[in-house]
Amino acid sequence: MKKVILIFMGFIFLCFFLPIVFTNSFKEVSSINQNNQMETNIIEKQQDKEMEEQNQKYTQYNTISLLHTKDGSIEQIDLEEYLYGVVSAEMPADFEMEALKAQAIVARTYTIYKAMTNQGKHNNATICDSSACCQAWISKEDRQNRWENNLRQSNWEKIVEAVNTTKGEIITYNGEPINAFFHSNSGGTTEAPINVWGGSGYPYLQSVQTSGEDAYSQYQSEVTLTQEEVIEKLKEKYPEIDFSFDDENAIQIKEYTEGGRVKTISFGNVNLSGVEARTIFGLRSANFTVNRIEDKITFAVIGYGHGVGMSQTGADSLARQGKSCEEIIHHFYTGVEIVSF
Ligand SMILES: [Zn+2]
Repeated sequence: MKKVILIFMGFIFLCFFLPIVFTNSFKEVSSINQNNQMETNIIEKQQDKEMEEQNQKYTQYNTISLLHTKDGSIEQIDLEEYLYGVVSAEMPADFEMEALKAQAIVARTYTIYKAMTNQGKHNNATICDSSACCQAWISKEDRQNRWENNLRQSNWEKIVEAVNTTKGEIITYNGEPINAFFHSNSGGTTEAPINVWGGSGYPYLQSVQTSGEDAYSQYQSEVTLTQEEVIEKLKEKYPEIDFSFDDENAIQIKEYTEGGRVKTISFGNVNLSGVEARTIFGLRSANFTVNRIEDKITFAVIGYGHGVGMSQTGADSLARQGKSCEEIIHHFYTGVEIVSF
């Protein structure tokens, strides 16, 4: 009889209490889940808010004011449309699509950086159309007129595609747009900005090596001057210079940068930086050697431009090796992120 009662009690327990225990523990689990869900929602909302704030930080530059240096006029222009004119002015249209896309991202970053940091440089304009000052820009009409007739449409479409497929993408470091320097040909090794402009440099602008740059016409050049022309050019800047070609050691390269460019070169009693020598003698880069043959001086130059940041021919070379625009950007700018707004 006791056994029957025990079985009966056991049955009651199974039927009534166990479900209660399970239901309660289920309730607990579900309330933990609910809490987790709420936390996730809060985090997501926070992230959305941050994203929105970040977007607002950049979307205010969706229209920029472009200064035309020829006539001083200022044009209000859509950012992406402006970039068609920059990419087509800065990079040959027959470069690889991934190189053109990298150029679009770099040019967009450069523009946003200028807009955020250089306000006031051009009074009411965000940026100007001069490559010597800001970055080059050309109108669609002028650009197309310089292309052969049969390439006008396809070249322009290629540029537009490079800009449109990277719409809103910029390069950041520590959450801020980088100072995205670029140049034509690094000669195989890019330069740290400290060796070009002094200052303390930028952590994302390190000297990096790129293969294949020697395949481009921008890689090698020469400037030949007579001895008189060399002295004349030096005296324009240094009237007191004591320098004579009678001295075998009148010209000496004293030091190189880590990027392989001339850091210091002496002409008689005057020491010049490689960058200064580049300007004085009109060389394509500060990576050069000096050869004296009879009464002529030849500067043999490697690379084109200041050498800082992305090399355009290097970008094309990497694209030919199968690299994407993101990989190209990470190659030339150390430790950066690509974000979209
Ligand atoms: Zn400018």
